Amino acid sequence: HISYVNGHYVRHARARVHIEDRGFQFADGVYEVFAIRRGRVLDAERHFERLTRSLAALRIPAPMSRAALQMVFAELIRRNNSPANGVLYLQITRGVAPRTHAFPPRAVPTLVATVNSLRPVDPEVLRAGVSVISLPDIRWRRPDIKSVSLLPNVLAKQQALEAGAYEAWLLDDSGMVTEGTASNAWIVTADGDLVTRPADMSILNGITRLVVLELAHRSNIRTVERPFSLAEAKAAKEAFLTGTTSLVKPVIRIDGATIGDGRMGTITAALQAAYLERLEDEE
Ligand code: PLP
Repeated sequence: HISYVNGHYVRHARARVHIEDRGFQFADGVYEVFAIRRGRVLDAERHFERLTRSLAALRIPAPMSRAALQMVFAELIRRNNSPANGVLYLQITRGVAPRTHAFPPRAVPTLVATVNSLRPVDPEVLRAGVSVISLPDIRWRRPDIKSVSLLPNVLAKQQALEAGAYEAWLLDDSGMVTEGTASNAWIVTADGDLVTRPADMSILNGITRLVVLELAHRSNIRTVERPFSLAEAKAAKEAFLTGTTSLVKPVIRIDGATIGDGRMGTITAALQAAYLERLEDEE
């Protein structure tokens, strides 16, 4: 198992960053999670675009070009035996410097990447769906930046798991759903409209979200990007969530209330099938 740390391919068990890395001390960094299929990263361009925006928002200089990163990724995947199904995690922090809040004048960004193989998502879960619980969204006001500051997400996900649910749907101060701790949230209304929150500053604009929006458009599914409330979600005909590792998962219970007839809805099924097909076709 090999990881990449600041220009070096190292044994994973020996991969290290300094104790005064600002990622460690301040969560002063960003990350991306790429899906690996048949030894290749998917949707690299979209992830790189989002990475560029996250870095710019935090004023962290890009440590290397996209082309160079692609070469590192390819080499790292190769050295990890090119998993058929897996994830590549990339993290970039502002770097190592004596601890003080303001930006250090000459810090060199830290760049680490890991590759892990994964078992494919259980088809039974994709078919039967998952439960979610609602929790207040206590994150900072810029979840659109993919920063490594994930403590509220960690706590909410743990609370969901302890409640027997797969994910938490987070509620803003008006009771509207923002997103999940690591996924975007969708509903289908009684009128058959596909609804998801617009990519404002209150959510991470998921790559899976963007792909599913495109697939919906291509399938002539009427799509509305607007906030929806928890009450509307509970009364929805269908609900589902999307993410790089979650794929497209039906949500069949919210806070214990059954959505629709408790089975994956037709629009969810169509989008899930289209998404899985695209995964298989990706070359
Ligand atoms: N929202 C949050 C808070 C996330 O952390 C993630 C991904 O982990 C997503 C949404 C889904 O984004 P993507 O589809 O790019 O994986």
